[in-house]
Amino acid sequence: TVPHQISRKKMAAIPIKDQQRREDGTKLKIIIVGAGLGGIGAAISLLLAGHDVQIFEAANEIGEVGAGIQVLPNSSRVLQSWGMKEALDKYSTKPSRVNMLHWKGGVISHMDFATSAAQYPGTFYWDFHRANLHRCLLDRAAELGANIRTKARVSNVEPSSEGDFATLTLENGEQHVVDLVIGADGINSNLREIMLGREDPPILTGDLAYRLLLSTKEMLKDPELASFVTDPQVNYWLGPDAHAVNYVLRGGELFNMVLLVPDDMPAGANTLAGDVEEMRALYKDWDHRIPKLLALCESVYKWRLCIRSGMDSWSHPSGAFTLLGDAVHATLPYLASGAGMALEDAAVLGEIFGRSANPRDPAEKRRLLTIYEQCRKPRTEMVVERGNRQQWLYHLHDGPEQEERDRAMQAKEEGEAL
Ligand code: FAD
Repeated sequence: TVPHQISRKKMAAIPIKDQQRREDGTKLKIIIVGAGLGGIGAAISLLLAGHDVQIFEAANEIGEVGAGIQVLPNSSRVLQSWGMKEALDKYSTKPSRVNMLHWKGGVISHMDFATSAAQYPGTFYWDFHRANLHRCLLDRAAELGANIRTKARVSNVEPSSEGDFATLTLENGEQHVVDLVIGADGINSNLREIMLGREDPPILTGDLAYRLLLSTKEMLKDPELASFVTDPQVNYWLGPDAHAVNYVLRGGELFNMVLLVPDDMPAGANTLAGDVEEMRALYKDWDHRIPKLLALCESVYKWRLCIRSGMDSWSHPSGAFTLLGDAVHATLPYLASGAGMALEDAAVLGEIFGRSANPRDPAEKRRLLTIYEQCRKPRTEMVVERGNRQQWLYHLHDGPEQEERDRAMQAKEEGEAL
C-alpha cells in the first residue's frame, strides 16, 4: 500500500524545484489535453522534470471561468515548490479563519488558519480570483518552455499496442505522435470516454451553485458588511438543503459568494444565466446579512454540480495515455479541494517522471503510471466521498441531527478539519 497521508514532520521544508537537464534520449514528448488549472500544473511539473511539453486547449482563448478559488495548505505547498510564491503573493488574500455559521446567524464553530497553517510550516490558506491563479500558472509554464496551443480540440487518442507512442488526433484531422498523452480535459472529459471505449457522463449530485462577485465599494458603506472586507475570513452558513460561502478576493477589491441549493436546471444544461430574484427568494429568511449582500448583486450564473466516481484504472494499459484532475475525480466543491487534487496529481506525475532514468521505455512508463495511480487513487477517492458526506452534513434541517452535528463541530479542536 502507498500512504496517502503525509506526516507533519515530513512537511517541514518546501524545497523549490530546479528544472532538470535531461539527455534527449531520456526526454519524453508529452501532450497535455486541456489548459485548466490541472493541465497547466502538469505542464509545469513535467517541464521541471526535464521533459518536452505541449498543451492543446479546445477554447479560442485561454482563461478560467468562475470567480474565487480557495487554495488550501496542501496545494499552496505544491505551488510554492514550483517557484510561484512571489508571483502569487501579489494576488492572494490570506483569510484569518473559517467560520461555520447557522443559517439564521451565529457561529457554530471556527478554525483559526494561522494555528492550522503553523502545523504545516511554510504553507498558506490563500484565496484567489481564478483568473489570477490561472495567469500565474500559465506564465510559469511559458517561462519553463511550454508550447501552448488554443483552438485545438482533441478528438481521439490511439496508443500503439507496444505503448511506445500514442497518436493524438485533433478535430481538424491533424495528427501528432508523442510518448505520452495526459487527458486533463475536465469534468466533461472526452478523453476519459476514449480511454474507457464507452460513454460515461458525469454523475448528478442534486445540487447547483450560484456564483457571484460583488464589488466591495458598496459593501464598505454598510458597517455590517464592511467587516467582511476589512477582516477577511471565510464564512460557511449551513442551512436546510442549502449552504452559502463567501470570502474576499484581491486583498479586498472583490467579494466572492457561492450559494449551494437544490438543482432545478433543465436536463442537458451545465451552466445557465440565473435569475437574481429567484436566488434572493431562496435566501430571504437566512442571516439578514445574506439578503443584504444579495441585494448588491446584479447578475448571476448557475452551475450544475456533478462528480466523477473513480475509475478502475487511470491509465491505458499501453502506458502511453493517462488522465488527471476533474476528468478522473471531480468532486463536490464542499471541501474546496477539486483544483487542489488536480495540482497534487500534477506534482506527483512530475515527481515520478523526474526520478526515472529511462522513462521512454514502455515497460518503465507503465510502471511509473502504476505508481502515479497508487499514490493518487486512495486520496482522491476519499476526497470525493468526503465531499458527498459534506453535502448531507451541511444541508441538515434544524432538529436533533443538526444539533448533534453542531456539537461535533464544536468539539473539534482548533486546527482540526471541521
Ligand atoms: P478544467 O478546469 O475543467 O479544465 C479542462 C480544460 O480542458 C478546459 O480548459 C477545457 O476547455 C479543455 N478541454 C475540454 N475538452 C477538450 C478537448 N477535447 N481538447 C482540448 N481541450 C479540451 N477547487 C478548489 O481547489 N478550491 C475551491 O475553492 C474550489 N471551488 C469550486 C467552486 C465551484 C462552484 C466549483 C464548481 C468548483 C470548485 N473547485 C474548487 C473545483 C475546481 O474548479 C476544479 O476541480 C478544477 O478547476 C479542475 O481543473 P481541471 O484542470 O481538471 O479541469
